[in-house]
Amino acid sequence: MPMDNDGVKFWNSIVSRFGLFFIGLIVFVILVSGYLVYTESSSVISEYSKESIKHTSSLASQSFYALLDEVANDIAVIAENPVLENFVESPTPNNTQNLYNLFSVTLKNKPAYFQIRLIGLEDNGKEIVRFDKVNNEITQMPEDKLQSKGDKSYFKEAVNIKHGEFYFSAIDLNEEYGVVSMPPTPTLRAASSVFNGAGAMMGIVIINVDLSGFYQNLNQLMQSNIKLLIVDPNDQYLFATDMAKCFGKQMVNKESLRNDFNKGISDIIPIKNEFDQLTDRSGLKYLYHVEPLSYFQGNRKIFLVSLIEESLVLQSAYMVRNNSLKTVIIVCIIALIFAFLFTRIFSKRITQVTMAISNYDEENPGSKAYLLSEKRKDEIGILSRTFSKMRTKIDQQMGDLRVALNKEQKAIKERDEFLQNMSHELRTPLNAILGLTQLLNKNNPSKEQEPIIQSLGRSANNLAGLMYDILDHQKLVEGKVTIKYSPVNFSELLNDIHASYQFDAINKGIQFKLVMDKVLQTTKFHSDPLRFTQIITNLVVNSLKYTHKGAILLEGNTKDNMLQIIVKDTGIGILPNDLQKIKNRFYQVNEDNGVSKGSYGLGLSIVKQLVDLFNGRLEVTSKIDLGSSFKVSLPLIPAKETMNTIQSVSAVKLPSLNEKYTIIHLEDDEPAKQMVSEILNDKHFHLIQTSGIEQTMARMAENSFDLIISDLMIDSQVIEQSLIDIQVKITPIPLIVLSAFEKDKMENISPYYIQKPYTIDELLDLVFTLLGKNEYDEPKLEKAYQQYDHDATKILKFLDILIKEFNNYIDRVEKAYKEKSADQWSAIMHKLITHIKSMELTGLHQLMPVNVENLTAGGYEKVINSLRYLVCFFRTQRKLIAAD
Ligand code: ADP
Repeated sequence: MPMDNDGVKFWNSIVSRFGLFFIGLIVFVILVSGYLVYTESSSVISEYSKESIKHTSSLASQSFYALLDEVANDIAVIAENPVLENFVESPTPNNTQNLYNLFSVTLKNKPAYFQIRLIGLEDNGKEIVRFDKVNNEITQMPEDKLQSKGDKSYFKEAVNIKHGEFYFSAIDLNEEYGVVSMPPTPTLRAASSVFNGAGAMMGIVIINVDLSGFYQNLNQLMQSNIKLLIVDPNDQYLFATDMAKCFGKQMVNKESLRNDFNKGISDIIPIKNEFDQLTDRSGLKYLYHVEPLSYFQGNRKIFLVSLIEESLVLQSAYMVRNNSLKTVIIVCIIALIFAFLFTRIFSKRITQVTMAISNYDEENPGSKAYLLSEKRKDEIGILSRTFSKMRTKIDQQMGDLRVALNKEQKAIKERDEFLQNMSHELRTPLNAILGLTQLLNKNNPSKEQEPIIQSLGRSANNLAGLMYDILDHQKLVEGKVTIKYSPVNFSELLNDIHASYQFDAINKGIQFKLVMDKVLQTTKFHSDPLRFTQIITNLVVNSLKYTHKGAILLEGNTKDNMLQIIVKDTGIGILPNDLQKIKNRFYQVNEDNGVSKGSYGLGLSIVKQLVDLFNGRLEVTSKIDLGSSFKVSLPLIPAKETMNTIQSVSAVKLPSLNEKYTIIHLEDDEPAKQMVSEILNDKHFHLIQTSGIEQTMARMAENSFDLIISDLMIDSQVIEQSLIDIQVKITPIPLIVLSAFEKDKMENISPYYIQKPYTIDELLDLVFTLLGKNEYDEPKLEKAYQQYDHDATKILKFLDILIKEFNNYIDRVEKAYKEKSADQWSAIMHKLITHIKSMELTGLHQLMPVNVENLTAGGYEKVINSLRYLVCFFRTQRKLIAAD
């Protein structure tokens, strides 16, 4: 089967499918690895972020504790300083000045300290000495402005600390006289007790530390988007990027950690991990870490919160993801393009090979379109070379096969031609044997001669049967056989077959039984009697041939709208292997049969083909040595006609002729000549027989003739043209072609033809029809034929009825004449008049008097002969039409 020229569609190609599969695989792998890179990088990035948070947090806490250490150190130095002890012991001007110097130097050297004071225990914690630093200006508070701080919590707490301990306040904004001093200064107060030489507490020294420097440190630590917060246990911000959020209590606003994150510091300290997630009110997510900063012997606790916006942490991861996605898409597109191109190229190569293979059977296999690239070194090259080798081999074998096939076909043709020629050649002598045997039978043979003549007849009939088989077979092979349907009485046909072979069966000592159901006996069906008889006869003949003892049963019944004919025997049977083959032509189970029994393996092949033409079925069952059963099933087509059949053709007599007619007969075969001379041996005929066309022409030039009867093949020459010439140039008398040729060949020359072998009646009917025309009415049938649309089946039926009716007239005329019955006569006349009118039988009409009394003996003879002529004419018509 050739492929369509576009080759395999892209989606149907295996190469494309593989290509697509691998592209899919590549895309999948890239996607998976992209995803893995993304998750891995995300986790690396988030780990890195955590590390930075932790680092920042620890730097911040170190800075806080360093500050505390420094302050503690400084305050210890001052508190333990002998200057202070001297002042407390004796506040001499010198000692006082020394203290002033100590305080102002300390303030000057430490940028973060902005106030240093000595507070006494008396007068409700009255300030004794106070130095302030404002804008780097150190001032001593005048004595009248010194305040009592006994109610301040830092005073109360500081007086209670032990020797060697330091006090640290909570962080708040510095206040003066109960008001937050401007600019707001985040402040931490550190205090230490002051003792005299006797070790009694004399007061406390306090340093106010401005935390702005520390806060600046924190601000510097905040990098890479990490934010720092310092929150007190009440969720108040002590430090934040936006300082306006801090010290909410003192600044009297609602700013707090809880306000921003909906959670207090106690809620967010991570329990298990060092890191956790936090969401602010606007929905931003943060990764955070909390470090508690505890000081003043654990009495104070603040919290350092380090946090980073999660989206910022993952920003780089997202970037990695987006970039890898872009890369994946680009890689995929490139892979797709490459795969598509590769697939196209590869599938083109494969298609070339497949096209070359699939178009191998085309007329021009080597055409350029399908040339294979055999020089390639890859697999395609190997495939191409292998295919080419294979093709050469196949071509070779195909060539051999073709030669063998041609030889066989030629042999078959020659055999068929031989058979056809042989049967053609056989016809003439066979016809003579058959005809002469019939004549012998008619001539009252003696008792001794009878069995010999019968045996001669049977042998001739068998030979004729074989010849018909060969001819039929040829016609079947050429599709020339058609089924001609007419109403058929199957029971009659089966009875005839049964009767014909009963004698043979008895001779062989075999029982031959016929069984039929009622339907077959009472109903007519449409069928082809000739072909039906041929089928059943073949089966019966076979059964007789292959059965040596026992019985043969011929059974006919109707079942499920089918006619079933079974021919069952108790013969030699057929092996299962042969059952399938016996329907093939010329197949014989045992070829020796052909020699001994006149078998050629044609019978069943014909039966099978005829049954097929009937749209029927042939089934065979058989067991070796037990017998065989052949079942023929044919569709049943009911015919409306009743069962009374037409009268047998041969029962009717021929009309007598008054004139003497000269007939010339051209035939080169002696027995055939003799047969015609016997058939036409009548006082009304003068028969001249010739054996060659020249002789015939010479005779015809000398004498006038009424009829020519001629064979078509004289001296192995077809004399078609000479016969036409005789009719056209010499004399236009009727010509009967009597030949073994097929009807169409004879029909070309004359409408009157008889195929050999023929029956005596056939020839007589035609001769009497043609010559009787001169003496009797020739019926005009054209109108009736038109009425039946020239339909052969209908016309045959019509002719059958005419034959039956006119035979009937003959009987009735005879009876009416003998009985001189006026009633019967008028009844005949009444009915006959319709035929007389329609067929324009004026002569007959004139012959028939109104009154039977007026019918003379001569008149009666003429009427009967006229009627006989009509029957003879109808039979001839029937024969010629049926031959179509
Ligand atoms: P043939 O002319 O040889 O009988 P047929 O075509 O009629 O050819 O039959 C083919 C073969 O089938 C016969 O040679 C015979 O071996 C086998 N065969 C046919 N009918 C019967 C039967 N009734 N019993 C046994 N064998 C049969």
